[in-house]
Amino acid sequence: MTEHPEEADAVIVNTCTVIGATERKMLRRLALFADRDLYVTGCMPVVQLDKIRSVCTPHVIRPDEIHERAGSVGTRGPGATGVVQVASGCVGRCSYCITRLARGRLISAPREAIADAVRALVTSGACEIQLTGQDVAAWGLDRGESLPDLLQEIAEIPGRFAVRPGMMHPATVLGILEPLVDAYESKKIFRFLHLPVQSGSDTVLERMQRGYTAADVLRIVDAFRERYPDMMISSDFITGFPGETDEEFSQTLELLRRAAFVKVNITRYSRRPGTPAAALKDLPERIRKDRSRTLLAEANRVYDSYNERWIGRETSIVATEKNAPGSTVCRNPCYLNVVVKEDLPFGFAGKAAITGNRRHYVTAGLITSGDEGI
Ligand code: SF4
Repeated sequence: MTEHPEEADAVIVNTCTVIGATERKMLRRLALFADRDLYVTGCMPVVQLDKIRSVCTPHVIRPDEIHERAGSVGTRGPGATGVVQVASGCVGRCSYCITRLARGRLISAPREAIADAVRALVTSGACEIQLTGQDVAAWGLDRGESLPDLLQEIAEIPGRFAVRPGMMHPATVLGILEPLVDAYESKKIFRFLHLPVQSGSDTVLERMQRGYTAADVLRIVDAFRERYPDMMISSDFITGFPGETDEEFSQTLELLRRAAFVKVNITRYSRRPGTPAAALKDLPERIRKDRSRTLLAEANRVYDSYNERWIGRETSIVATEKNAPGSTVCRNPCYLNVVVKEDLPFGFAGKAAITGNRRHYVTAGLITSGDEGI
């Protein structure tokens, strides 16, 4: 492993092609290494090998080969984080999505393989375990099992750690809503839900073939917030889906406000080759851009108001990452990004008083160290 690509004997590029801008970035990067011993993995070689071959002739590594060879579904991430890929593929049929074409049907990792990976990561010092997959809520559907049972089993693993569940498709969440809300009772699950809703308009959602309505989304949000009022629920939106009217877009704004999503990822619609939506007429780029700006401004207001309600409160924290000398990134039980102006060791647990809102994180002063934390 080297920090400098020019010193490497071989170069491996892990590709993504979720939107057009990413695809172009990947092709530029691949062209840069065209004369090297180049290996390409990720989604792009599965669905766009011809495009890759137009800029270089690399070796291809199928994404699933990586776990097969590594012999584990777990990987250490930065700081005190660990990543466990619980599944690949999905049960969706979203009309705009190229990932579905690249990753195919749902294949869940066996429960024991996931538990082994969590144990190994915790033993190696990870205290934030991120569960990932295209749709984490779908875990187990192909095995006659379900995510809430998996979460409960992971929560019984000894050690000081908490699980950050990854992205969950609202339609799949609806099928497991009650047991899922119950599973979050455990202190070993961060009260964090990533619920990509993409639009607040039922007619757009139908054209996207998402399989739920705005009312369904609110049912999920309300079920979690009734039980856990501080729960952090983040979301993803696509602006300017083909045919999206002003009225349909205003319903998206309305859903964002009503659901009070924090940490919102906004993507301008991007036509992806081979998808059903690619046959639809694109809206002008200006409209997609304007709507994305409007939505971002609203999302920032919601983000600020969520953070501000924490100011003046005490919270448990655990140190998970470093971003600058003299300060440490910690997480509280709702996965709030809490920055403490002290050099704390990874895994440090204590209590802090939240003092300021910096939108993407809050600042805090340390009150106690010791047996607090997640
Ligand atoms: S957006 Fe839809 S089709 Fe694409 S990976 Fe997610 S659930 Fe599957």
